[in-house]
Amino acid sequence: MYQRFPKDAPIVQKYGGTSVGDAQRIKDVAARLARQHREGWSKLAVVVSARSGETNRLVEMVREVSPKAVEGGPAYDMALAAGEQVSVALLTAALEAEGVPAQPLLAYKLDIRTDSAHAKARIRSIDSAQIHAGWERGRVAVVAGFQGVTDDQELTTLGRGGSDTSAVALAVALDAAFCEINTDVDGVFTADPRLVPEARLIEQLDYETALEMASLGSKVLHPRCVELGAKWRMPLVVRNTFTPDHHRRTWLMPQSDSQTQPIEALAVSGVTLDRAIARVTLTGVPRERGAIAEVFGRLGELGVNVDVIVHDRVDADGSMRVGFTVAKSDLEQAKSAVRELAAERGYTGLQATAETGLAKVSAVGVGMRSYAGVAGRTFRALAAKDIDIRMISTSEIKISVVVDDKAAEAAVRALHAEFVTG
Ligand code: ADP
Ligand code: ASP
Ligand code: MG
Repeated sequence: MYQRFPKDAPIVQKYGGTSVGDAQRIKDVAARLARQHREGWSKLAVVVSARSGETNRLVEMVREVSPKAVEGGPAYDMALAAGEQVSVALLTAALEAEGVPAQPLLAYKLDIRTDSAHAKARIRSIDSAQIHAGWERGRVAVVAGFQGVTDDQELTTLGRGGSDTSAVALAVALDAAFCEINTDVDGVFTADPRLVPEARLIEQLDYETALEMASLGSKVLHPRCVELGAKWRMPLVVRNTFTPDHHRRTWLMPQSDSQTQPIEALAVSGVTLDRAIARVTLTGVPRERGAIAEVFGRLGELGVNVDVIVHDRVDADGSMRVGFTVAKSDLEQAKSAVRELAAERGYTGLQATAETGLAKVSAVGVGMRSYAGVAGRTFRALAAKDIDIRMISTSEIKISVVVDDKAAEAAVRALHAEFVTG
């Protein structure tokens, strides 16, 4: 892919946790960059994640001292950002050992400015002047993913998996030719290849499907990196760090730039699994107008994303029962928001109960718009495997079902067999 561009085209490469997982792997990444640098690629910027397992270890360390400090405070973000800092230092050292001058850059150096929503901060701007100055002097920029700084100079993190988003945001700021996401699989597959061995590599993917797949749990790309790619028409390529450069990969690019679009899309491009969900059931919701709107309004203000919603029934006392799913990490916040609202508004019967042990399985595809019967096939395929559906939601381009977590992997395989390989 590099052949398509002049050697002075800015290129951003991102390496995920496994790609920099140990000393040898860091040296291998440095060797690849050194080769490209020697070949004359003069505008390389590399974004690195923490080494695999490192961020989880840091989360545990925070939990050990303060179970309540999790997700949402400056201390939590400061601890988590340390993992990327170490990777930047190690890759810089490895590049220098290869004889390549490198410039280590943490978020404050590039002024990767975010809002102050700790643990899920959004990038507002990046000042790339230092990278341009470094390139003039023949240096490779090595940038910490996942982290940012607020207006008050506090460290923030972008949400788990957020280094992908750092990389695409940097690619946009640098007006890069493309952003290469180097990971531990060949690209985006029709399902997680670790769960579904017969999953197929998707060589070209539109941003819309990729965004839906990422949002619904396919972990290979952080949803916001796809959103940014689409917004700024930044081509993204996902490839395997551990295979040679001519190997298979996935391209995401604006439709008009791709050369081999199939004439008609399949109904379903991919099947995804999200195990990090919980169900909240609200009981005693007063039937007076606006009570439901108030609950969801409050959750929205707090940044809690509400997904599958079922408006269950009216109970004997005339109050309503409503169920919805949230990310597990938002569960406590969702429950306390409901408690607070109930107290403030005097909704004495309003209660939120939580259920975990669930998973959301989705079939995604823009082709679904023009195919009938996707819902029927989904239900039949799951029923044939005796899998109970607990909740359902559909849109034009996806159908999601909530099932017991124990049945989740079987459900992914059933839907993949039905729509992709069947
Ligand atoms: P990195 O550390 O490089 O960011 P991640 O672990 O975040 O890598 O994402 C890569 C993983 O995503 C793969 O190892 C794979 O198991 C998982 N995955 C889930 N769904 C998909 C999919 N549809 N295609 C490819 N990989 C997927
Ligand atoms: N290190 C962070 C995480 O584990 C960010 C990333 O890997 O993208 O979530
Ligand atoms: Mg990742």
